[in-house]
Amino acid sequence: MRAKNLADPNVSLGEQAWPDMNDISPTTAAECEQDRLEPILKANAERHGADVRFNTELMDFVQDAQGITARIRDQATQAEETVYASYLIIADGVNGNSREKIGVGRHGPGVLQHWMNVIFETDMEPVVNGQYFTAALLQDINGTLVPRDDSGRWSMSVQYFPDHGEGPEDFNDEHCLQLIRAGVGREDVKARIVDARKWEVAAYVADRFSEGRAFIIGDAAHVMPPTGGLGGNTGIHDAHNLAWKLASVINGSAGPRLLDTYDSERRPVAEHTLAQALSRLQAWFKDPNKKLPPAVKIVEDKNVIFGYVYPSGALINEKGFSTIEAFEDPRMPSGCPGSRAAHLVVERNGERLSTIDICNGHWVLFAGPSGGKWVEAARGLHLSSKLGLNCYQFGPDEDLQDIDNCWSSAYGVSEEGAILIRPDGFIAWRAHGASAQPKTNLQNVLALLTFQNS
Ligand SMILES: Cc1cc2nc3c(=O)[nH]c(=O)nc-3n(C[C@H](O)[C@H](O)[C@H](O)COP(=O)(O)OP(=O)(O)OC[C@H]3O[C@@H](n4cnc5c(N)ncnc54)[C@H](O)[C@@H]3O)c2cc1C
Repeated sequence: MRAKNLADPNVSLGEQAWPDMNDISPTTAAECEQDRLEPILKANAERHGADVRFNTELMDFVQDAQGITARIRDQATQAEETVYASYLIIADGVNGNSREKIGVGRHGPGVLQHWMNVIFETDMEPVVNGQYFTAALLQDINGTLVPRDDSGRWSMSVQYFPDHGEGPEDFNDEHCLQLIRAGVGREDVKARIVDARKWEVAAYVADRFSEGRAFIIGDAAHVMPPTGGLGGNTGIHDAHNLAWKLASVINGSAGPRLLDTYDSERRPVAEHTLAQALSRLQAWFKDPNKKLPPAVKIVEDKNVIFGYVYPSGALINEKGFSTIEAFEDPRMPSGCPGSRAAHLVVERNGERLSTIDICNGHWVLFAGPSGGKWVEAARGLHLSSKLGLNCYQFGPDEDLQDIDNCWSSAYGVSEEGAILIRPDGFIAWRAHGASAQPKTNLQNVLALLTFQNS
């Protein structure tokens, strides 16, 4: 089999399936099929009060200043129902029509390539010979091979060219088997074809990510080639960005204008991420029809997935701070407002944990070992308690012990400084050092960040 590891083309198959993320995140990377992930997500959503309904179609909706009125239909019984909501999150994927219903167009190069996904069952063991990989580029057929799970189910993706008279109907079992054998370089490979389905490589970004009370996330907002595995990640990032903002406005701890920052933060990130996916597509696969736009410089996957930076939005830019790059290296965090707060291993009451877990879902203020005044000031503010702001001071005898002694370099502030982190783990503001009026400073910063006067 002539193949490259798509997780990291410089690493040979089996050497390393997933890159080590220990210094970026408290969790490790793993693959998880939709049929295993979905029940976990559903149970969690229901634990938080969600009413999750499958086989239910959104037929139509209207919005006014008060909310959304939507008509939904149970596809099993055909029963229709009207539901009312304060907000609508449009997550109906690449073929959904809700984006158009709120009058939002999309732009981009459009449909670029035509591919088939062939799912098959096989015993590939003799071919892969114990090597483990998450995705391989099959150089002989210019396709990809992905082990789906440990049950012997695999998928192969291969391009076809309608301009040359090729179509999905060509992919009968015999042709699929030929391709599998050519791809892995063994004529004796046995395979039972489970499914062969077409899909298109397309590239679009919505012109706006919101309109009134409706917000667009996931593939409904941006469609990108799967090269780099960035599309689903970007959709999850959208939801992560939007969820705390909606919660804050609904519970009254922030003004409605906070919701405008969903578009100003997420749209530029989607544009830059799409450019990364397109550049990978160009680098990895043939483009005989020359349809792909000019490539940008490829940055590492971990920078795209963990290091995207918000240029403006619910954050306070620093004076004299020139435009930052679209992505930074999460292993060398800048600590700038708009970037992801670094993962540091700290000790709290004798227990080791990550700053990511401390921040999870809350506003957090971290102050340096000599920055106790910031914590004192924050704890005395009415706005802090309204937001549920959690405050911690670093220091040998303080709330958090800095195991690797890197708090100051990771967040770019002095021992007297402080950093304010949003519920999505992004840095909203930082004070490089002490202030003569920490309480007034913080009061102003929190009021600005939560759009109290909107
Ligand atoms: C071959 C391939 C490989 C990929 N690999 C990766 C990867 O490794 N990593 C990664 O991050 N991303 C990957 N992606 C991208 C990823 O699959 C998508 O970005 C992601 O699935 C989009 O999720 P979504 O929820 O926005 O949309 P979808 O998954 O398309 O879900 C939208 C849902 O809305 C439903 N819907 C539509 N209209 C209505 C309506 N009116 N009422 C009710 N429901 C409606 C649809 O039926 C659908 O179930 C890949 C994509 C492809 C094609």
